Amino acid sequence: MNNNMVKIAIVLVVAAVLAVCFKMYFTSLDEDFSNISRTETYRMGDHYTGFYHRPGCPKLKQTHGGGIRFENSAAAKAEGYSACDRCDPDGPNE
Ligand SMILES: [Zn+2]
Repeated sequence: MNNNMVKIAIVLVVAAVLAVCFKMYFTSLDEDFSNISRTETYRMGDHYTGFYHRPGCPKLKQTHGGGIRFENSAAAKAEGYSACDRCDPDGPNE
């Protein structure tokens, strides 16, 4: 096996590992979104993005800890916040 073949083999192995990591990462994101708690009636506004979320939304966790509590989604809307497209903050509570 010459040097070029070794290099190609290494690149293929690295690419395969990266592909598996990406798949695991996005699969875990989908699981997080599908498991968001719908029992809380209050909503959290993110003043960095201007969106409001259910308290357990993974997108809210990505916001440097910045959050404003609203009693419900109508209160968040009244302050000019927009509904998150993933956690369905306007949907019914359980
Ligand atoms: Zn959200």
